Amino acid sequence: MIIDSFNRVHDYLRISLTDMCNLRCFYCMPEEEYDFTPASRLMQQDEIFAIAKIFVENGVKKIRLTGGEPFVRKDAGKIIQSLSSLGVQLAVTTNGTRLHEFGDVLEASQIHSINISLDTLSAEKFKFITRRDQFLIVKQNIETFINNGFTVKINVVVMKDFNDSEIVDFIKWTKKIPVHVRFIEFMPFAGNRWTSNKVVSMDEILQTIGKQFEFFSQKGEKNDTEKKYMIPGHEGSFGIISTMTKPFCEGCNRMRLTADGKLKNCLFSDGETDLLTPFRNGDNILPLIAENIKGKAKELGGQFTSNLEAVEAKLIHNRSMITIGG
Ligand code: SAM
Ligand code: SF4
Repeated sequence: MIIDSFNRVHDYLRISLTDMCNLRCFYCMPEEEYDFTPASRLMQQDEIFAIAKIFVENGVKKIRLTGGEPFVRKDAGKIIQSLSSLGVQLAVTTNGTRLHEFGDVLEASQIHSINISLDTLSAEKFKFITRRDQFLIVKQNIETFINNGFTVKINVVVMKDFNDSEIVDFIKWTKKIPVHVRFIEFMPFAGNRWTSNKVVSMDEILQTIGKQFEFFSQKGEKNDTEKKYMIPGHEGSFGIISTMTKPFCEGCNRMRLTADGKLKNCLFSDGETDLLTPFRNGDNILPLIAENIKGKAKELGGQFTSNLEAVEAKLIHNRSMITIGG
């Protein structure tokens, strides 16, 4: 088992397949011109499988594929199929633009639940956020996957005076459609121009919803990152990921492998451990994994606290979100 110095068992691995993306979400991509990592420096299909297997042999029970956009990688389907043979719970987070090409692979790999990012229900605003005109295909894919029986969770990054006016619209969407909407507090990453006054807190989100709907809290699991809620009479439900104002680090079981094979023990960790180079050299990477996780900070990568006003984004040492894998 992989355990940190606070006795947290780490059994959930998130693997970024690529730092490439076909969208340009302003809160995720760095402002300046960004060079995607060349293919030779990315973990190859067989390397992803072999490294993931080492994690699974040491207690990992769930693997989520993310990115960048995982489905822009040409061999994404093959990677998913190979990982499905590891016998762990497999999951994917995607921007939804290419989902229609992967329905069969997902079914064949026993993936029945999918997280899709959609920060607005307006086509125009979508274009502004992502700098691409792909709203309709994403919306259509969401509907098709729900109709085909997939559990669909929608990730909405809420930003003040930008899309917080749509919180209620998202809730109304859950009335007749069995979709689970997760509101995410806006987080600081390199180059994303985060400021504390752009964060819409969990309390504010709940207040907004509470003005129009009666909602009830749902029972969660120890490792949950979100607090879940239901509204009587609604087919769907909602949740809030309150990383910034009410962090859930106490039950954290997550590790992150970047597309270039670096292990991060926290979304906000300052350091990272290169696993790919020693793996390519034929070295045993298990001691490196153990050491990295032992060094995990108690909360928020040890870089800030939930006192929002005191968070100085420029002082946080980290990669941009697109190169970490959310
Ligand atoms: N391309 C895929 C997608 O968009 O779902 C997977 C990668 S994306 C980095 C993973 C998740 O991170 C998305 O739901 C995205 O909204 C979220 N994310 C990116 N930057 C964020 C930020 N600054 N604060 C909160 N969530 C963020
Ligand atoms: Fe791409 Fe996802 Fe980042 Fe948007 S959030 S730029 S879709 S990786």
